[in-house]
Amino acid sequence: MSIKKGKFFPYGIHPEGRKELTSELPIEIMPLPSKVYLSMSQHIGAPAMPTVAKGDVVKKGQLIGKENGAVSANVYSSVSGTVFGVEEIINALGQKQTYVIIETDGSNEEALFESVKDFEPTTLIERIRLAGIVGLGGAGFPTAVKLSPKTQLDTLIINGAECEPYLNCDYRLMLERTEDIYKGIKHVAKALKLNNVIIGIEENKPLAIKAFEKFSDINIVVLKKQYPMGSEKHLIYCTTGRKVPVGKMPFDVGVCVQNIKTMIACYEAIELNKPLTETVMTVSGNGVTEPKNLKVALGTPLTDVLNYCGGLKDNAVKLVAGGPMMGKALIGLNHYVRKTDSGVLALINGETDTDAPTNCINCAKCARNCPMRLMPMYIESFALADDYTNAEKYGAMNCLECGSCAFNCPAKRPLVQSISMAKAKIREMKKNGK
Ligand code: SF4
Ligand code: SF4
Repeated sequence: MSIKKGKFFPYGIHPEGRKELTSELPIEIMPLPSKVYLSMSQHIGAPAMPTVAKGDVVKKGQLIGKENGAVSANVYSSVSGTVFGVEEIINALGQKQTYVIIETDGSNEEALFESVKDFEPTTLIERIRLAGIVGLGGAGFPTAVKLSPKTQLDTLIINGAECEPYLNCDYRLMLERTEDIYKGIKHVAKALKLNNVIIGIEENKPLAIKAFEKFSDINIVVLKKQYPMGSEKHLIYCTTGRKVPVGKMPFDVGVCVQNIKTMIACYEAIELNKPLTETVMTVSGNGVTEPKNLKVALGTPLTDVLNYCGGLKDNAVKLVAGGPMMGKALIGLNHYVRKTDSGVLALINGETDTDAPTNCINCAKCARNCPMRLMPMYIESFALADDYTNAEKYGAMNCLECGSCAFNCPAKRPLVQSISMAKAKIREMKKNGK
């Protein structure tokens, strides 16, 4: 085991952490809701195909959505009960998705996998695929695909940065489930056939750093508190000094980056024979009555989560799925907990901007903040002019959607939304061969 200080990267920002609302609160297990709404699109890639129909009786851990292609993921029931319906719903993120809705029967009868036949890499990867595990830090990329690179990697990096303000789920898990994270890491390192494991933890989490000191085969890198430290490219640079070139991926520099919660899911799938049916999330912000860290069944309605936390305060002005930097604003309450949810925030004035955008004043603050050294103001202008060729030329596809550019834009420009829209258009153009 070694402990060393990580590098820092140029640009980026230092937002107020606001972690104190929940950092000392142990993870509570939230009671099961009366119904869960399980989306077939909780991952990057093709939506899963429902395998159940209205009236079917299911157990917790029973397959209800089958992966549909190489980049897709299985979905399992998070409760025992009866299928209430399979419906298309437009959710509070404005996305039309297919949901399997299950009425809970309260018995919590559980279906488990058979034990793995051995602990060989192919067996471990197959179990992780079968369990429907995806990157639980928010990316949602199927983990089994990430663990099957075409070339041999030499380093596994565990992302313990949790640089998003307010969120504490990874921090609490690092304190409360250290051994389980370690066991998951060992399985994933074995799946990748490598020995060099680094965990990067921000310097503002000394107890988490201490918790991992006992493992002689894990190297700890203490990271500066800097946003977006948790971005894969920045984490790789700050922990190893390796730079992932533009357009390349972590595996191109011999690295695989994994998230804390994903390691627990891998441990549970391999050693406890459990598919992925729950997550841990932070419910925070000054607009919620009792902020908490919660273990929640996937598919739990946001309204149940908020009610369990004492409800919204009258002065709550904005709901966000995820952290305030990379999370997405919710346009209603019809949000249902997904595999990738690390938090829900209820924010009040002063915690979020509700001012309308004004014209860009060309101050270049956004460019000075951008950790990818882009010029967000130009990309936004091209996006607004439907000039996606130039938006791409100016690096739109390298944007992390980290929000550093919009953080202190005096004109409150919705830069990330514009760039994100441009990226979607560029992808569409490429798909259509333009
Ligand atoms: S920070 Fe805002 S106002 Fe300043 S250049 Fe960027 S987009 Fe324009
Ligand atoms: S342009 Fe993209 S990468 Fe750069 S600060 Fe804005 S959101 Fe982050």
